[in-house]
Amino acid sequence: MDISVVIPLLNEEDNLALLHERLTAVFATLDYTYEIIYVDDGSTDNSLKILQGLLQTDPDHVKIVELQRNFGKTTAMVAAFQNASGEVVITMDADLQDDPNEIPGMLEAINAGNDLVVAWRKERMDKAKKKLSSRIFNKTVSRLAGIPLHDFNCGFKAYRHTVIKSIRLYSDLHRFTPVLAAWNGFRVTERPVVHHPRHAGVSKYGTGRVLRGFMDLIMVLFITRFLRQPLRLFGWLGVTVFSFGALLNGYFALLWLSRFLGLAAVEPIGTRPLFSVGILSLILGIQLISIGLLGEMIRYFTYRPSDEYVIRKVWIK
Ligand code: UDP
Ligand code: MG
Repeated sequence: MDISVVIPLLNEEDNLALLHERLTAVFATLDYTYEIIYVDDGSTDNSLKILQGLLQTDPDHVKIVELQRNFGKTTAMVAAFQNASGEVVITMDADLQDDPNEIPGMLEAINAGNDLVVAWRKERMDKAKKKLSSRIFNKTVSRLAGIPLHDFNCGFKAYRHTVIKSIRLYSDLHRFTPVLAAWNGFRVTERPVVHHPRHAGVSKYGTGRVLRGFMDLIMVLFITRFLRQPLRLFGWLGVTVFSFGALLNGYFALLWLSRFLGLAAVEPIGTRPLFSVGILSLILGIQLISIGLLGEMIRYFTYRPSDEYVIRKVWIK
């Protein structure tokens, strides 16, 4: 199989027939074998019935994965990835905001040697509020992750199969696949695409996604920097904080000693606010180091050699 198109959907009954028609029309112009995997992520409308109709009329290309309940877009995508056999996997939203006519261009970018092509909605057809929050989000992710892309969150992406095999998606990490893929050494690029307003139905995401997105960003930054060496984060933090406390309290120890020995007229140290700061820093420092060591312990006992690397290719004669 050359291509798997993956469509996660939740209550998209009025979009599916047209989406399938457009996809079919595009693939008719291409010389690829393909499948379209629709993942019904717990829809409560007629989406599943409509998908069953598509399966009847186009059994060679349609696959339906019906989830037991609504698990969220990321997990729906994982379910589809598990069932995808295409060498290239294209993800798209079901609401026709992404244009199937862009598929050939996305495939060209893959064939040009890229492993992940991210669609860039240069002129986005969403509400101003959403565009603004998205812009802030994209700028932050791009800066902090050090990956020069404009549009991380677009549902429209083309992956080489090896990419989806190597990344672990949960929470809302579908937004961060470019970061995770680049971290694993894959070639990631972007490509401007046209973007449309939602064809029918309503958006499934409110403003809450921005906050969730920033939590996920912290998670991704941790994963890509310190996952394999937790002590390098917590250990250094801990040592820094502990040293600060040690210096402060060393100073207070000298004061106490000189008072005790009657060398100088010094105030009692017990009431000095900085003394408490010193003690707190010592405790916090030890705790941070301990967390790092716990992390290393988990790392040690969950070690699997195959998790340590991603192979591009094995060369044998
Ligand atoms: N979606 C899903 N499960 C969810 C939420 C959304 O499968 O829990 C699908 C939805 O049906 C659509 C895609 O994810 O195909 C993107 O959702 P939506 O268009 O509502 O997001 P927006 O474009 O407004 O950010
Ligand atoms: Mg949409």
